[in-house]
Amino acid sequence: MPDRNRRITLAARPEGPPRATDFELVEAPVPRPGPGQLLSRTIYLSLDPYMRGRMNQSVGYAPTVDIGGVMVGGTVARVVESNLGGYQAGDFILCSNGWQDYGLSDGTGVRKLDPAAAPISTAVGVLGMPGHTAYVGLLDIGQPQPGETVVVSAASGAVGAVVGQIARIKGCRVVGVAGAREKCDYVTRELGFDACVSRFDEAFPDALRAACPDGIDVYFENAGGAVFEAVLPLLNTHARIPICGRIANYNQTEPPPGPNLVPRVMGLTLVRRLTFRGFIIFDHMDREPDFLRDVGAWIRSGELVYKEDVVDGLEQAVPAFQGLLQGKNFGKLLVRVSDDPTR
Ligand code: NDP
Repeated sequence: MPDRNRRITLAARPEGPPRATDFELVEAPVPRPGPGQLLSRTIYLSLDPYMRGRMNQSVGYAPTVDIGGVMVGGTVARVVESNLGGYQAGDFILCSNGWQDYGLSDGTGVRKLDPAAAPISTAVGVLGMPGHTAYVGLLDIGQPQPGETVVVSAASGAVGAVVGQIARIKGCRVVGVAGAREKCDYVTRELGFDACVSRFDEAFPDALRAACPDGIDVYFENAGGAVFEAVLPLLNTHARIPICGRIANYNQTEPPPGPNLVPRVMGLTLVRRLTFRGFIIFDHMDREPDFLRDVGAWIRSGELVYKEDVVDGLEQAVPAFQGLLQGKNFGKLLVRVSDDPTR
């Protein structure tokens, strides 16, 4: 039996970008599963932008992490010991151990994984919550039609890459917005988008306009901030804007400088009959079987590809997470907390 459990806890609520001192790496004994519980060892920890919100005093739609509490997170793990029917030692599972080596579960939200069906890491990526978010946000909320122009921000990331590829499969003209030039190249060459514009380009709004000669019918919002401001004037009459995330604002402590854009946004929403709709993926679990069926088939046929950015070691979770909020990840960000015996 293992004897120690490394855990990364929340030491302080960040003001602005999280600092290393906002986290603490602590050790605790490995817990033993009680009746109806299983103990699992984390293999992959998913790092996701929503975790920044959970570090705040209030999130609004989900519980926050307490000071001293283990950072939350989706994980792929292997069962070490089980007192829970249907699970036995050695099983691979999707669970929520958070930022730690070992976790207990009563089975809530746990799914068994078949390593023969897909690489187990995909259960927190393209075949997990981010892929599901892309599928629901684009198809159900964005409702793209063949020939329409779809724009997605954070285009090379876990959600954005799936959004753009589904839009391509559905016959749309697809334009990505990403940061680094190598990400933009990947988005057009590997993911098959029609164009990708760097948000770092000095002439970014003009470049986006040039890439969208027929305007924008669906804007899948992951970024907010300056990207949204460049998209806004290009939105066509009856455009749909699924509001998935606004990562540009997550570290902000006060409103950005500049003019108040509310009257402009309301005015354009009215005259162009725009539909903005926010969504949280947990409200759409009924679509999970459809998502797994369709995206699974597109991966098997080679129509949809994915990229993972894997860092090794639990102690790397903090710098990797800080990097995620600065655009340093390239693909779905994962921490390999222990060896993946299926690879
Ligand atoms: P990604 O893998 O895309 O990583 C985040 C990316 O955001 C970075 O790589 C960077 O890409 C981009 N980014 C970072 N800072 C900024 C900035 N200041 N301005 C613009 N872009 C920035 O993350 P995910 O795919 O996991 O998440 C994408 C979005 O989806 C997030 O906003 C997240 O909160 C949201 N989300 C929402 C869900 C929901 O239920 N509503 C569920 C899951 C995710 P680059 O540098 O290339 O622009």
